[in-house]
Amino acid sequence: MNIAFIGLGNMGAPMARNLIKAGHRLLVVDVNAAVLQQFADEGAQVAASPRQAAAECELLITMLPAASHVRAVYLGEDGVLAGLRAGTPAVDCSTIDPGTIRDVAAQAAKQGVVLADAPVSGGTGGAAAGTLTFMVGAPEAAFAQLQPVLAQMGRSIVHCGEVGTGQIAKICNNLLLGISMIGVAEAMALGDALGIDTQVLAGIINTSTGRCWSSDTYNPWPGVIDTAPAARGYSGGFAAQLMLKDLGLATEAARQAQQPVMLGALAQQLYQAMNQRGEGGLDFSAIVNGYRRPR
Ligand code: NAD
Repeated sequence: MNIAFIGLGNMGAPMARNLIKAGHRLLVVDVNAAVLQQFADEGAQVAASPRQAAAECELLITMLPAASHVRAVYLGEDGVLAGLRAGTPAVDCSTIDPGTIRDVAAQAAKQGVVLADAPVSGGTGGAAAGTLTFMVGAPEAAFAQLQPVLAQMGRSIVHCGEVGTGQIAKICNNLLLGISMIGVAEAMALGDALGIDTQVLAGIINTSTGRCWSSDTYNPWPGVIDTAPAARGYSGGFAAQLMLKDLGLATEAARQAQQPVMLGALAQQLYQAMNQRGEGGLDFSAIVNGYRRPR
């Protein structure tokens, strides 16, 4: 299948590579020339604009940082909607607010295009391994069409409901993730300060009731998990500024629904402080630096 893939960052690049491995022909777009060169070397065709990629594909996938990028890529002058033919399925995998995807999908519908949302969970490791969870908001028929391709990049493809419900699932999950990472950081730092070996402590937590993904897969304490960003100076994972964005989406959605999110609001402030310290580009698990004692 000819697939247009727009946004080849920490997540999009490994996802796109899994589609190449599965035998698809990729048309790629990014604003980063270096990543486009890498994909050209790997056999992908570089398109001149989102419009050109959209016009030449049978399926379009986007994986962009935030809502403003999604609006620009879909609705801009040389954007996706200017090129996409009626009946070509499109799916946005970025994490953005449900209102934006519903709005862009409504504009797409006017020209006979079904745009679904399918934000993901599983991190860069899951993207590389092809084990992501996709939370899909789409009409039944569009979901059935997208499912086989998404399954080449993920292990769990869940139909959440109509367009926008994928984003609702995602922001609720990330609200919890942002909070749980702070909880693990706090517990690991307390254990260290009180004098227990942090490997022993992590082992206990991970076989006890405190266990969660932030403790057993992505533990923020260096030396606990070899594959976690903590083992490589907090580089290359899920940037704290993206977690801050997601907590902003959750707290804004909560405000609109008049629903309290007390821990979410506190977590948002802690990642905000991290960002202000100039650490927003580090993986979000570097939140632990705020708890660690100078050695
Ligand atoms: P990223 O910043 O690494 O990648 C985004 C890519 O989009 C970059 O290559 C950038 O150059 C490109 N881009 C930006 N504007 C563009 C434009 N106008 N046209 C074409 N390309 C453009 O971000 P990421 O970590 O890959 O995350 C992407 C999305 O996935 C975000 O919404 C994020 O919240 C979500 N997400 C990330 C993770 C993670 O662990 N990194 C996990 C789950 C979900």
